[in-house]
Parts: sequence; structure tokens; C-alpha cells
Amino acid sequence: MSVGAEPLKNADATPGDWLSYGRNYSEDRHSTLNEIRKSNVDSLGLVWSLNLGTSRGIETTPLAVDGILYLTGPWSIVYAVDARKGELIWTFDPQVPREYGEIACCDVVNRGLALYEGELFLGALDGRLIAIDAATGNKNWEVLTVDQSESYTITGAPRVVNGKVIIGNGGAEYGVRGYFSAYNVEDGTLNWRFYTVPGDPSLPFESKALEDAAKTWTGRWWESGGGGTAWDAFAYDPELNLLYVGVGNGSLWNQNFRSPEGGDNLYLSCILAINPSDGSLVWHYQTTPGDTWDYTATQHILLADLEVGGKKRKVLMQAPKNGFFYVLDRATGVLISAEPYVYVNWAERVDLKTGRPVETSFGRYQDINAQIFPGPAGGHNWQPMAFNPESGLVYIPARELSMVYGQPREWSYQTDKRKVNLAIGFDKNPQFRTDTMAPETQGKLIAWDPVKQREAWSVKHRSPWNAGVLSTPDLIFQGTAEGRLVAYDAYNGSTLWQAIVRSGVVAPPITYEVDGKQYLTVVAGWGGVLGRSVRFTDQYYPGTIYTFALGGQAKLPPFPKLVSELIDLPTKADSATIGLGEQHFDRFCQRCHGTPGDGGGAMPDLSYSRSEVFEQFENIVHGAYLPKGMPNFNDRLVAEEINAIKAYILNAASILRDKQTADTLQHVGLH
Ligand code: CA
Repeated sequence: MSVGAEPLKNADATPGDWLSYGRNYSEDRHSTLNEIRKSNVDSLGLVWSLNLGTSRGIETTPLAVDGILYLTGPWSIVYAVDARKGELIWTFDPQVPREYGEIACCDVVNRGLALYEGELFLGALDGRLIAIDAATGNKNWEVLTVDQSESYTITGAPRVVNGKVIIGNGGAEYGVRGYFSAYNVEDGTLNWRFYTVPGDPSLPFESKALEDAAKTWTGRWWESGGGGTAWDAFAYDPELNLLYVGVGNGSLWNQNFRSPEGGDNLYLSCILAINPSDGSLVWHYQTTPGDTWDYTATQHILLADLEVGGKKRKVLMQAPKNGFFYVLDRATGVLISAEPYVYVNWAERVDLKTGRPVETSFGRYQDINAQIFPGPAGGHNWQPMAFNPESGLVYIPARELSMVYGQPREWSYQTDKRKVNLAIGFDKNPQFRTDTMAPETQGKLIAWDPVKQREAWSVKHRSPWNAGVLSTPDLIFQGTAEGRLVAYDAYNGSTLWQAIVRSGVVAPPITYEVDGKQYLTVVAGWGGVLGRSVRFTDQYYPGTIYTFALGGQAKLPPFPKLVSELIDLPTKADSATIGLGEQHFDRFCQRCHGTPGDGGGAMPDLSYSRSEVFEQFENIVHGAYLPKGMPNFNDRLVAEEINAIKAYILNAASILRDKQTADTLQHVGLH
């Protein structure tokens, strides 16, 4: 089947294929295939699995066309797989330089591809847009979409709209200026580009929209980039010819330092309606004016027709990080309703007259260290939600999670583009406001009624970081951090079926048909921003594709049991050296490797490393493991500091071993 403009517009007419990231331009992730139902889901079983041999997070939504799956893995590698046999047809490795691992805020993930007339489009982590022949896996063309001297990365899936490939980028934690672009599908010529925040006002503005936006900024915002990266959400209404784009947080996070006299800071945390013919702005709605919390509005944008107040409305729905569920009129951008879908304390409510949030007195943490809900991971992040028009419910992979925000005591802009630059701190004022109303930290699958703006049902998860969802006529499928793929009743949330896949799952499943039979595929690969340094499974498993169908009898693939013991090497370091090591560890290592003893996630807990790692420690810190994605700190850490880090880890392991021994002795009654 040739996937051109018409099949993409009419994706609902071909439910046997999964043609684009969100299944259709409305991005509803609802399949009408109904062979697998509530009544027979207990006979759903594995038909094949394929170990990709990868480590690091996998966030991909595969495409499925004529029995072939196209998906992406870590480092933007593309796989074409025969869905009948579970065999690789080809792979395409864009050879992303491993230095990019350090400037990818949220793991070296990729969320998927776009398909158009026999070509696949990939946004590679290093900012290239690449057209690949879907039949052979050969590259047809590539263009660079970013200035590689800045810390831009691409993790999102491109979309093809009217012969143009739309792609954004990320990097707002590293001081970039956000934008998204449209390229010609034929040869990658740049068609238009929309900057989401104004640049230096002494230079000409790129558009009237940016001239307007500049009035909502203060200070010298352009020096820290401004942020506003559009790294995930795109949806399209062919009838209105509007492309909807979700815009991210500010750079810096803290508005006091980014735009010191305040202001709304357009178009941060906005939903934009764009004319895809020329890239002009038609309307915008800002979910978080003057963002100061990393409240991106890049979360999944979902289009649907809803009956609200007795009237059929063409709506757009989003559950951005800030915790409110928004229903907008998608022709005009007028707010219809907004209510919190998780616990929120930065704002009391959204005023429907003004369309603006009513903030709490402590929400902006001006002179207080405050525990704010949601935290920067968001009430909802990139994990896609789904909408079932029959149940009328939106299924949100959500979380209850906070962070303590505060003003930094001393702060200056870091010019090293590899360093995260947030201007967040906790020590200016010793006064902490903790929230006694706070719910416990947990993941939640929420079935949300978008008309009544209230929860219909929810399921709690132990981990706050789980997978995106798939909707079918009466089932909802979601993977979990504990290594399960679960089917829930779409109407009441009861668990009807589950399969053990061992690895934590973050990617959403898809469903499709081959030779008249319905299949379900999910790619398990634990990682992402919260999966980097923690996990909820017994060990870390390689990325693996799992495909299920009714009557499937295949067994789980064998995975070697990884031996994991605390490192036992003597260290003669004094406490000053260990203290210095801890400081450097916290600065350079902790963000990925976590605290020694915590067990690690997609990246190993170094207190469990093999002795060879410590024999090679300096070489590894100086680039020996760069091919595996470990950054080279050659220009930032000298031998003495590296030895101190090593001493800190070995000392931490020794303390943990003593504790384990004491616990064991106590357990057998000898202590
Ligand atoms: Ca962010």
C-alpha cells in the first residue's frame, strides 16, 4: 500500500495498518479492530519476540503497514521487522555521535517515524532529518535542522502534512531557542520555520507573531535562549487546515532569571494553531503564562468531536505537565473547560472567563522553598494518552509527583552548553512549605471524562513512570515499570489480562492486522528521564519487541541472569578525598548513575560495577566508554578528582556491604 496524502487523512478507513505516530491526524490512538475483545482477551498470548540487544530507553510507537513494522530504538536507530515472523528485514543506524548522550536531557530516546509514499522520515538525536527508503533501509537524503554548536536534540516523531515533513527539537534545559520547521518531502528543502520565542529585539523579528511575543518578555531573555522547544506534540485537522503544536518550557526554568520583570513570555507553554501552508500563526492558547516550573505544553494533543452543553464541538484536548486537563475549541482556540486531573497546588483553578490560571500565593516560590505539585516530570509527560469515542473517555498515563522549588542563593549563567541551566535552588530562604494535602507519589492510569471534566476511574501504579496507552473498543492496554503489559476494561478499569515482559515498559503499544488476524505489539526498553537511575524490575533487560495475538503460545525469550554484587575493593582514601569525590560525583555522575546503593536504572549503579571498571576508571571517565554513551570528561575532571570520585564510590560500597552483613546477621539471629 502506498501511503500518500489521502490514506493519511483517512487513516480511520484502514484500521488494519498503523500509518502515523498517533494512528491518525487526530492522534487518538484508538483502534476499531475488534477481534481482541474483553470476552476473549484471556486467550491473548505471545506469538513472537525479538531481542534488539539495546540498552537505554525505548519510547517508540511502531508504524505497521502491510505486515511490516517500522520502529526506532536508542540512538535513533531504525528497525524494519516482518510482523508475521518477527524477523529483522533491515536496520538503519544514523551513527549519532555519542557525545549527544550528554546533552539529551531525558535519555537517548526516539519516539518514532513518519511514513509517506515509500519513505520513512527520522529525526535523529543530533538534529538531522533523514529520509529512508522503506523497502531497503537506504538513506535517500538528509538535512541538518539545527545549529550543532547549540545543545539541540531531536527525540520526537516527524509528521507529514500536505507534502511537508514537520519536525521540532528539544534542549530547553541547555539554553536553546525553540522552533519547529517544515521540509519538502521530496528533497528536504526548508519550507518554513516557526520560532516559538522572540530573539534579540535589536535584530529584525522573524514574524509579526514574534514582534507581539516580544512585548511579553523582559530583561535579556535571548541570552539564555528562551526555550520553548516543540519536542513532541503535533496534530492536524485537514478540514480546518490547522496544524496544532505543543510548546515547551522556558530556558531558564526560573522566570525571575529568564524574564526578571515578569510577563507571559509567549509562546512558552502554549498550544499553537499554525497554517501548515506557510507556517503562520492562526491562534494560540497559553496553558502556563510566565512558566517558572518546567510546565511544558508539549504533551500529546488529541482532536475529537464532543457534545458539550448540548452542542457538537470540534475540540482539542491536552493534559500538559501543569496538571490541568484542557478542552479548547480547535477552530478558534477558545477555552471550553479546564480542571485538574492530578493534585495541583501551583494554581487554584483556571478562570474560564480570562482563560488564565489563578495562582496560589506560594506557587511562584518567590521567597520560600515550596513543594509544588506537579513537579517538572509533570502530571503527564510524553507518554501518549488515547481517546475512545464510544466510552467518551480519555485515558491519561499520569502521575502524582512533586518537587521542592526555590530561589538559588548565587547564580550565574553557565556558558558550557553541555550543562543543564535552570536557575533553580533551595537555599536562599530556609523556610520550607511542605504540603500536608499531598497525595503519595505514584503512577496513575486515569480514565478522564472530558465533557464532565472529572475522573471516571483510575488505576494506581507503584512507579510514577509507566507507559503510553492504546485504546480498542472495550480495552485499554498499558505497559508498566514493573515489566508487565496489562489490559484494562475501558469502562471500569478492572484488570482483565496481563503478560510478563520482565523489562519496564515506557513505549505505547499498537494494534494492527496481518492476513486478517489482529496483533498487538509493544517495544519494551526501560529508560527515559525517570528511568535513567531507578528501575522496578529485578535487573536491566535489553530492548525487546513483543507481539501478541489470540491463541499465541510463544515463550519469553531467555535473558542471561546478570550477577550484581557490591564492589569489594579496598580504598585507603581519607575523608577529605571522599568528600571531594562526593561533590564531583553529585555534579557529574549522579544525574545518570543515581546515588550509590539505589540499584541503578537504564544506567548502572556504580557501586555494583565490576572490578575491571575501577581498574579502568580514569580511562572510562576520559572517554574509553564513549562508544557506549558514557560522556568524555577529559576537559572537566583531572586524575586527582577522578580518583576522589572512585574513592567515594568504593567507600559507599563498603558502607553498604557492612550494612548488608549486619542485616544478614540480624536475620539469622547472630546479632
Ligand atoms: Ca523541560
